[in-house]
Order: sequence, then structure tokens, then C-alpha cells
Amino acid sequence: MIRVKRAAEPKVLQKNAQRWLKELLEALNELDQSPKEQLKQAKKKFEKIQQKYNHKEVKDALVKMFYGKCAYCESRITVVTYGQIEHFYPKSAYPDKTFAWDNLLLSCDKCNNTQHKGILFPLDSAGQPLLIDPTDAQADPFIHFRFSWDEQISWASVYGLDERGKKVVEIFDLNGSRGRMDLIKGRSAFINRLLCILKIYEQTKASEAFSLLQAACSPEEEYSAFALALVKPYIAQE
Ligand SMILES: [Zn+2]
Repeated sequence: MIRVKRAAEPKVLQKNAQRWLKELLEALNELDQSPKEQLKQAKKKFEKIQQKYNHKEVKDALVKMFYGKCAYCESRITVVTYGQIEHFYPKSAYPDKTFAWDNLLLSCDKCNNTQHKGILFPLDSAGQPLLIDPTDAQADPFIHFRFSWDEQISWASVYGLDERGKKVVEIFDLNGSRGRMDLIKGRSAFINRLLCILKIYEQTKASEAFSLLQAACSPEEEYSAFALALVKPYIAQE
């Protein structure tokens, strides 16, 4: 995870979010008060309004803002799939945040899946979220996580440094301990190649190697948090 600067609210939300929310809360109220025989219809109406957040303009803005990568695991989504608009505060428990631009992120379908975040949204004892929103200017991922490389087993792991970091690693299974091995294998292979380039650069000072390393630290690149932690310190003074 890296910090991401939130882009301007898409026009479609600027224009409609308030009205959609009003309609949604009315439909929710109707749903709550529906007699059994009208429940199905009321639910359908509610879901139709709820889905309005899933607009192309919103998705495009999020894809651009996150460079096509997942907000949580930093894997490149858009090469193989469209990605999902993810509600940081789950829309099921916080319907008032369904159309709130500052609640929307881009997520891969694994991070957003019920095996991982789903509707989970743990809070601390003060009622504040334990999960981390990468667009939250107050939450620097480098305070909450350590991005590390184990030379012995060629493994790129992310460790939570505090309660919030640990909760993120656990819920999104960022180290594959609950079975998400594709993530850690792919990430480790990627970082291994990067560290090989760093070795070549340190021996040869080749400008091509420097350019590759510099590009890897850019927020556009997959797993750039690892590059920032493991590569940047060695090329920063160049
Ligand atoms: Zn993900």
C-alpha cells in the first residue's frame, strides 16, 4: 500500500450524489417497513438505486487515481480485469457513504472478496477504523507497515508495525498465510528481479538499470511500496 492523493470528485457524483443518497435512504426506509409480500420489490428498488455509484465516470476516475492498481495490495488489476469500486466504509453498514467520493477506492476482486475484506470493517475502542484508507492524508503506510525482503527464501513480506497495520495484513492476507499464495509469489518474483537490477546497477552504474529502478519507485508501478523501501534508499542520492 502506498499513499494516494485523491483526485477531484467526478462530475456525475458532484451532480447526483446528494439526490441519489436521498432516494437511497427513502428506499431503505420503504424496505424496512415493507410487508412480507412487497419485500422482494422493495429490495429490488433499493438495490437499483444503490448500484448508481457503479458509474463509468466514477470507475474511470478511480482507475486513473490508482494507476489501475488495487488500493490495498498494489497488484495491477486493469491488465486482466476491470477492478471493483470499493467502499472503504462498507455500503451495507454505512449507507450514507454509498455515493461519497472520499469513501470510494479501486480494489482487486480478491481484496474485496468476502474471504478478505468483504463487509469487514473493524473499529478500535474509540470507534475509529482499524483498516487504512490509502487516500487518508493522516495515514502514512510507512508508519503502519514494514516492507521487507528475505534473502534466504526470496520472499517479499509486509509486516504490520501497529494494530492497524497488523489488521490490514491479516484481513487482506497480504502475506498469504490464509492461502493467498499467488499474491506473495508474484510480488516476490517482481521484487527479486528488481533487486537483481539494483545489484547490477551497484556494480556497473549503468544508466539503463538506474532508469528501471527509478521507474519502479513511481506510484504507477506495481508494489511500489516495496521499491520505495528496498530500492529508493540506494538510488536516492544519485
Ligand atoms: Zn488487492
